Amino acid sequence: MQKWIFIDDKFYKQEDAKINVYDHGLLYGDGIYEGIRCYSKNIFQLDEHIERLFKSAKSIQLTIRYSKDELTDAIIQTIKKNNLENAYIRLIVTRGIGPIGPNPNLCVNSTLIIIVEDLPNIHGLKALDRGTSLAIVSTRRDSVDATSHEIKSLNYLNSIMAKMEAKHYGVDDAILLDSNGFISESTICNIFMIENKIIYTPQSSNGILKGITRKNVIEIAKELNLEVIERNITPYELINADEVFLTGTHAEIVGVTKINNIQIGNNSIGPITTKIRKKYMERTTNARFGVKV
Ligand code: PMP
Repeated sequence: MQKWIFIDDKFYKQEDAKINVYDHGLLYGDGIYEGIRCYSKNIFQLDEHIERLFKSAKSIQLTIRYSKDELTDAIIQTIKKNNLENAYIRLIVTRGIGPIGPNPNLCVNSTLIIIVEDLPNIHGLKALDRGTSLAIVSTRRDSVDATSHEIKSLNYLNSIMAKMEAKHYGVDDAILLDSNGFISESTICNIFMIENKIIYTPQSSNGILKGITRKNVIEIAKELNLEVIERNITPYELINADEVFLTGTHAEIVGVTKINNIQIGNNSIGPITTKIRKKYMERTTNARFGVKV
């Protein structure tokens, strides 16, 4: 099946979808993005993702040359053009083309790219059944007084270095600590732990991205009358928790069974994680939480 990529108002065949080498997105990682998922023609949490994209843009003074409605429309058109019902959507805005120096003010127009990929709605189930293994790595999350972790920027070297360490240790993914040694998040997911039926998760000042799946999980926990506390978490607390799980748009909700080769809980996906995941999956196809294609 021919894949179509949207770049600045035009559709290109995948093999023809190219970016200028002077685009500052490439030269400096100067740009922002969102990863979004569409379930059975329901673009889950699209308004929230677009809202976060605009906040990232504001923080780096990047002008998006599209309104929120125009962006929504462009995403819908790209999904339709690719004839997909279930999709992973990558929405990218780069600083655009400029001289080779880093001055962003010399880039005239930002570049909008939309990639959609077929992503059948079964991805998370396997990971949930199996659980995932993590290692606490030496790469630290950028501290809050360095590049803001809350901006979903095109610079993911921090996560990539952590992922390389995790692969070196032979586990699925990494847990990054913040600059004070508290738990931050994994390379592309937020993290939660459960102890005595209370849910704990790191707060923004621990260097996390404020995940949209995380927000949904907090809302679901409240619906289930479970208390959620955002606070500093130590590695000791995480390793001794009853349940640990990761959240992210692509990964959904994934139980963690091992950290640093130490078994978490009773080595299976815990009952509260399973309950939250079920409610989360119900939301993904509910039109109340999405935008219809
Ligand atoms: N942290 C990081 C660093 C991420 O890249 C992501 C994925 N976007 C997340 C957390 C999870 O965020 P979300 O639930 O919005 O996908």
